[in-house]
Amino acid sequence: MLSVIERTCAVTAVALLALSGAACSTQDPAPDTPDVAAPPPAPPAPPPPPAPQSVRANELGKVPVLMYHRITTEPSSVYDRTPQDFRAELERLAAEDYTPITASEYASGRIDIPAGRHPVVLTFDDGSTGQFALDGAGRPAPDTAVRILLDTAAEHLEFRPTATFFVFDPPFEDPGGKTTLPWLHEHGFEVGNHTLEHPNLGQVGSAEAQHQIAAMQRKIGEALPDVPVRALALPLGVHPDDEALAADGSADGVTYHHDAVFLVGSNPARSPFDAEFDGQNIPRIRSQAATGEEAEYGSTQWLDELAGDPESRYTSDGDPDRISAPNSASADPAPGLPGLYRY
Ligand SMILES: [Zn+2]
Repeated sequence: MLSVIERTCAVTAVALLALSGAACSTQDPAPDTPDVAAPPPAPPAPPPPPAPQSVRANELGKVPVLMYHRITTEPSSVYDRTPQDFRAELERLAAEDYTPITASEYASGRIDIPAGRHPVVLTFDDGSTGQFALDGAGRPAPDTAVRILLDTAAEHLEFRPTATFFVFDPPFEDPGGKTTLPWLHEHGFEVGNHTLEHPNLGQVGSAEAQHQIAAMQRKIGEALPDVPVRALALPLGVHPDDEALAADGSADGVTYHHDAVFLVGSNPARSPFDAEFDGQNIPRIRSQAATGEEAEYGSTQWLDELAGDPESRYTSDGDPDRISAPNSASADPAPGLPGLYRY
């Protein structure tokens, strides 16, 4: 996103230089020539997206939601990845035409990516400093996930640097998330709820489960006023006994609602336009090498599988208002889906 802004500014600067050069060379303007340069013409409208069939669009296909925990040079569990692992996985995703979107964009079907690209949701749990920290100059610190994401996006035009961070208290060892959460929001990242203290919500009772969720929403809201929290990752992937309380509830004067509730493990998620999509039970894929403990549920093996079966993957038609899918798609569209186009 930053790189797009930089590119736009560069183009504008070039245009202004060209205009000022033209103005300087005009020694003797005709009397009716305005002495102020005319505004540059509006840029041409982007070309319309190509026909859905030409990019084999399938917006009923599967979406990988990748789950990361610590990004660390000293991994100590199957949930940890090194900065090198993370960089390599992003390079792979970029090379295979994935474009990151946020958790709530995915769950609400606001998937606005170029034709032929595949959405991927990058999610980070627990708010550790290897995921995000700011250096002394206020920039994302080297080898943090955020820095690696921004660097990767700068190298790949259609790789949008975004992700969703599911945090508990305190996020990124930053009291109240006062510095880190606003930075993330202002730079196009999403902040999601991971409860106040990361309990097993299946063991704490309904009142405490609602308190754990509502209290963390209040904390996030103090750092990000007026930014709704629309996504929750369940600690350990466990729902409260009353499952509906993950999506909707209230405690301590705070009411919450989540469009998306995320589990832990273990397979690609359904398209949000699939009739069987369940926003309250969204599976995630643990980022993992091709081999090792339960690698069959890990990202390398799943990305291999999606690459080997491209028809099963969500492929965008480039028009967020039209939902395109081949007649051969294995999933059924949600009833009454607006903008549905079959081919
Ligand atoms: Zn967690």
